[in-house]
Amino acid sequence: MGAYADFHRRSIENRESFWTEEARRIHWHRPFDQVLDFSKPPFAKWFVGGQTNLCYNAIDRHLDARSDQTALVYISTETDTERRYSYRELHAAVNACAAVIQAQGVGRGDRVLIYMPMIPEAAFAMLACARLGAVHSVVFGGFAAASCATRIDDAKPKLLITADAGLRGGKAIHYKPLVDEAVSLSKHPPEKVLVINRGIDKDFSMVPGRDVDYAEALRQHGSTPVPVTWLESSEPSYILYTSGTTGKPKGVQRDTGGYAVALASSMEHIYCGKPGEAMFTTSDVGWVVGHSYIVYGPLIHGMTTILYEGLPIRPDAGIWWKIVQEQKVTVMFSSPTAARVLKKQDPAYLKKYNLSSLRHLFLAGEPLDEPTHRWIHDAIGKPVIDHYWQTETGWPILSLAPGIEKAKVKYGSPGFPVYGYDLKLLRESDATEAAPGEKGVLTIAPPLPPGCMTTVWGDDERFVNTYFRTFPKLMLYSTFDWGVRDAEGYTFILGRTDDVINVAGHRIGTREIEEAVQSHANIAEVAVVGVADSLKGQMPLAFAVVKDASKLDTEAGRKSQEKEIMDAVDHQLGAIARPQRVLFVNSLPKTRSGKLLRRSLQALAEGRDPGDLTTIEDPAALEQIRGVLKG
Ligand code: AMP
Repeated sequence: MGAYADFHRRSIENRESFWTEEARRIHWHRPFDQVLDFSKPPFAKWFVGGQTNLCYNAIDRHLDARSDQTALVYISTETDTERRYSYRELHAAVNACAAVIQAQGVGRGDRVLIYMPMIPEAAFAMLACARLGAVHSVVFGGFAAASCATRIDDAKPKLLITADAGLRGGKAIHYKPLVDEAVSLSKHPPEKVLVINRGIDKDFSMVPGRDVDYAEALRQHGSTPVPVTWLESSEPSYILYTSGTTGKPKGVQRDTGGYAVALASSMEHIYCGKPGEAMFTTSDVGWVVGHSYIVYGPLIHGMTTILYEGLPIRPDAGIWWKIVQEQKVTVMFSSPTAARVLKKQDPAYLKKYNLSSLRHLFLAGEPLDEPTHRWIHDAIGKPVIDHYWQTETGWPILSLAPGIEKAKVKYGSPGFPVYGYDLKLLRESDATEAAPGEKGVLTIAPPLPPGCMTTVWGDDERFVNTYFRTFPKLMLYSTFDWGVRDAEGYTFILGRTDDVINVAGHRIGTREIEEAVQSHANIAEVAVVGVADSLKGQMPLAFAVVKDASKLDTEAGRKSQEKEIMDAVDHQLGAIARPQRVLFVNSLPKTRSGKLLRRSLQALAEGRDPGDLTTIEDPAALEQIRGVLKG
């Protein structure tokens, strides 16, 4: 690891000169005066005094050299549509969208909540906000009204942008009524709701004075040119909510200049994409991967990005490979769950298409098990690079960087610390460095590199208290992941240190699910744990104590209670958080001091040894749990 080790070392030891060089990759309207202001640790400000704009870097900057090149291809297997936008057309579409947003009274620093299916207008809206200096917050379309309302109350958006409906596997998902409910639940409702009518839902209603039809607004305002608003590098570009151990999601706040530089540099050093080539990221704009590598990263790099609406196996399991062939994709980015889904399908689909354009397949978001890594590697005959990151960081923490050095892929490992990250693997007991082969907590010595979260939206204290207090004497950012390093420096991720679970790459706090279960009137107490799942990585499992046990007397009663609880979770959080089962028990296993024995519960549910139980208050609780798990 000569070349890469040197590169990484330089990024830490000569931080300022390293990032000054990387910052040349983007356009600065005004050059920065200072590379890094770390005068108030752990808060880091990158490229201080510099002025730039994400939308300008993603679109306008390319208009001279590549105005006719395709910037965005929208492929929907839900509506059988393919639409291509050149950089010139994307510029026009984003300008028109910005004009509409501006006409609703939105300006620099105002928040705009985007709740949209995977349609080009979702990307237009994000880029249009960036153009105006407005702060977007995309909420994943699978979240329920109550989750959406929590995010509205925290971000206090002036405007909400939505569509009539999304489609999943041919089934309509009605967005507009859900938005109406979220707005009515909210304490800080947005002044306006902009609605993109796809013509899927024929019956949705518009609220007079509040709701604005996008097509009509485009006719009225779309031709007004919208100049770029230059932002100081540290001004926020967006907020993205993510789950933690409390019931309240955190608004991860991202800056402007640092993010643009980090993405631009990763496109070359990690993803090895070249301007003019195509990148296909199979995520959703509601997740961080969608922000960084469907929208901003590939466009900043002058690539063609593919925005896909649909499932990986519909019309058949060859659809993604067909896209790779037809669009001559060179960089593909997907998730371990998607790889496991494809593994279950007929392997002939992989042989049917010509994948010769593809350089690498990148996977992230959850642990990639060794057999799946090996399978997909062999199946596509291309290097498959597992890389590890978090919503908080916005780009990879651990990865191979084939743009710098072609290191061998080790199955099950996301590789080495990415340049810019001063990673430390520490023993939990005394915060000393773990030896090779020894488990430790993955931490990052601040300053966090450009691109990472700068704070929790509206709550600097929460940023410090959540992320930098794991080792009280050391101000280190905790990833809340366990890791282990082998003798060659490859790191392996061993799972979370907290009560956050990962379902098909989507991070969910068990506390949030417990609160949703508790919204059911008959629930006295509940514990939710994540249990291993061969497809989705993990699935939530709930153990519930009811108030009125007579409702569980019959099998039908039990089933109906379980269904009601699952519906409550769907309603509060969305179907992605639904427990796979709700098991009813008389009491939950706790220590004598009243602490829930969560790890033991999880171990029992996965058929493992529950560990040391000497502190348990009521051993009968555990026996009953063993019983219901067997039943
Ligand atoms: P999210 O912020 O939703 O992307 O979730 C981040 C979490 O997902 C991390 O803290 C890890 O627990 C997990 N994760 C992400 N990428 C990987 C990976 N390549 N290998 C193992 N775990 C991962």
